[in-house]
Amino acid sequence: MRRDIRSLSQDEVTDVLAKLGEPRFRAKQLDEWVWRRNVVSFDEMTNISKGLRSKLAESFFVGVLGESARQESVDGSRKYLLRLGDDVEVECVGMPSGRKLAVCVSSQAGCAMGCAFCATGAAGLTRSLSAEEIYAQASYVAHDLDMRATSVVLMGQGEPFANYDNVLKAMRLLNSPDAMGIGARHITVSTSGIIPMIARFANEPEQFTLAVSLHSAVQKTRNELMPGVKRWSLLHLYEMMGTYADKTGRRPTYEYALISGINDNENELASLVDFCRDTLCHVNLIQLNEVPGSPFQPSSPARAQDFLRRLHNAGVEATIRESRGADIDAACGQLRQRRR
Ligand code: SAH
Ligand code: SF4
Repeated sequence: MRRDIRSLSQDEVTDVLAKLGEPRFRAKQLDEWVWRRNVVSFDEMTNISKGLRSKLAESFFVGVLGESARQESVDGSRKYLLRLGDDVEVECVGMPSGRKLAVCVSSQAGCAMGCAFCATGAAGLTRSLSAEEIYAQASYVAHDLDMRATSVVLMGQGEPFANYDNVLKAMRLLNSPDAMGIGARHITVSTSGIIPMIARFANEPEQFTLAVSLHSAVQKTRNELMPGVKRWSLLHLYEMMGTYADKTGRRPTYEYALISGINDNENELASLVDFCRDTLCHVNLIQLNEVPGSPFQPSSPARAQDFLRRLHNAGVEATIRESRGADIDAACGQLRQRRR
């Protein structure tokens, strides 16, 4: 059976070519076609001889993502429903602004964490994605918009740290000058807070950016909102983030989606300030995106401003994140599997 050339590591590609008696630089050429130019067949690889192209085509195919659906937002963002080899579908989003292109990719089809406010969580987990499938989403979006991706966030469907090895491999591919060449600081992974994996992540040598979904600094509230991580206490998270900051010198982001009447009262605000004060962090206040069938409503913009002010007064770096693509259900937490 023929294998997908995209599923091979660079070393494996080099091996295959060496066995065919090809010089080492051929691997680099092949890589360029597959990963940078995003070709769909060996025939397009014009600087590779016809003979070699047909030899490769005997054992391999150039795996492609099928497109099941797409939607374009008034703000220029595009959401794609892409189909993987086994017909599993995932969503990803391209957000161009000027010459910059931010891409949001999925790390799993569905998610097992079950956060109460999240559309992805409601559907459960289908499966984890391979590194190549994660990478290929970014490459697909960049190719479609005819732009270079300048940043990638792993904030689509799935809990990235429940698929740690593949996610890290994908981040390294995105970072590699031989593939997409995106600076490590511009590659962000967001986790709901799987502590042992944050510990691992703190030891990785790259300057990748880490975001942690906090959503409440009150244990009871967070347990209810994020049942998938309730086995780790907030104190545990607090300590781990201190270790992370000490080890890496990097400023992690806490994501906090403001939910009316749930995590936006005075006690919640005071707890959030306590959690963050005197630590290296940045708080991203997110307006909750409404999910059909969910009882949760976003807080008022005035309340979001209160949070921002109080955090600033306590010396905590914070911003209110503008949501993009809300009109196409592509904003945070609105990605889920469904056919249109
Ligand atoms: N699973 C990872 C990353 C993907 S979700 C995680 O949870 O961190 C990206 C961000 O969107 C997370 O902070 C998530 O908590 C948040 N989110 C989920 N549902 C949302 C909603 N309905 N409105 C706003 N943000 C939401
Ligand atoms: Fe999974 Fe993140 Fe959604 Fe929680 S918020 S269910 S971890 S995708």
